Amino acid sequence: MDHTKANLGHLGGPFNTLASHGTNTASKHNSEFYETLHGRGSCKDSIKKRPKKKFITQKVVLALIDVAKENNEKEWVQRYWNTWHCQNDLLTYKGRAYGNLCKNRFCSVCVSIRKADMINKYLPIINTWSNIQFLTLTVKSQPRQNLDKWMQGMKKAMSRILDMCRKRYKRGKGSKLIGIMSLECNFNPIRKTYNPHYHILTATKEIAEIIKKEWVRLWNKGQKTLALPYLQNIRKVMDTEKDIIETIKYTAKIFTDPEMKKKKGYKAKKDHKIYAAGLHEIYKAMKGKELFGKFGFNLPNGGSLAPKEQITNKAEHWVYDPKITDYVNTSTGQVMTQYVPDEELESILDEGIDLELK
Ligand SMILES: [Zn+2]
Repeated sequence: MDHTKANLGHLGGPFNTLASHGTNTASKHNSEFYETLHGRGSCKDSIKKRPKKKFITQKVVLALIDVAKENNEKEWVQRYWNTWHCQNDLLTYKGRAYGNLCKNRFCSVCVSIRKADMINKYLPIINTWSNIQFLTLTVKSQPRQNLDKWMQGMKKAMSRILDMCRKRYKRGKGSKLIGIMSLECNFNPIRKTYNPHYHILTATKEIAEIIKKEWVRLWNKGQKTLALPYLQNIRKVMDTEKDIIETIKYTAKIFTDPEMKKKKGYKAKKDHKIYAAGLHEIYKAMKGKELFGKFGFNLPNGGSLAPKEQITNKAEHWVYDPKITDYVNTSTGQVMTQYVPDEELESILDEGIDLELK
């Protein structure tokens, strides 16, 4: 995509800048009036929520760009601009929307599309588990210069545990471990430290207990206590879908309570802040790491249909306008969703973004 666009503040204009790569993209066909729509597109419900996600993402990403510029990290500036442009242009056709996806984990639009996809894939299987448990595994909080190394170490520790248990099971000396997991990280604005942690859904309570036991053993050898046993938590899953979402998030929490009180949910609350420099460090540590994993089961085959392609001259063009936080039809001027950000969200995004790390 052409990133000079943002510098020019170019938001309207013709649709000839749409690139065609990956799935879910839309590109201009040979004829002036025909478009090729790639992929399955997004449904109405998902499109309705898009302006809000664009609004949050663009504001946060602009702060992240400032942080990356300050650090002189050009490739990160570029990545964040990619996300700023994500789904700026949409084509709609027969109630579905098509446009380029940046696929970055700091993009709320892409994360939510991935989320829906993961729920479709995993919920039917997880619903068959008999006694689903939610396991949280932590290690000591870390300063930013150690974060990358520690996240790597946690991944290694987890695969060592799963490997060992797999061998035990094959020898007939242990249970089969079944679950999904994801490695995440929070920023603590008071202590300026990072809390990498695993969220794991297991099929039974026994599995959660085995993993917890091995985790505690692995990190607490000799004199060292690197994972306090009482901070490793197991609870029963009451709302499977909610906890799946919690486990497949794949990204860092954007809104943080500056006082670090017991947090509930991930919604923006008026006293919440966005710590852009902290988030930037987390995204850097997450880069190139596979954070999600499943163990002890396979997804059923099929389902992965070849990307669909449609050619039509009936598609409508829309461009996201940050000033009105909505998509505007390029030929009629019509506004797509009438989304209006609530005051709370607006005030966080206007005043609650903190760029300082020190
Ligand atoms: Zn995106």
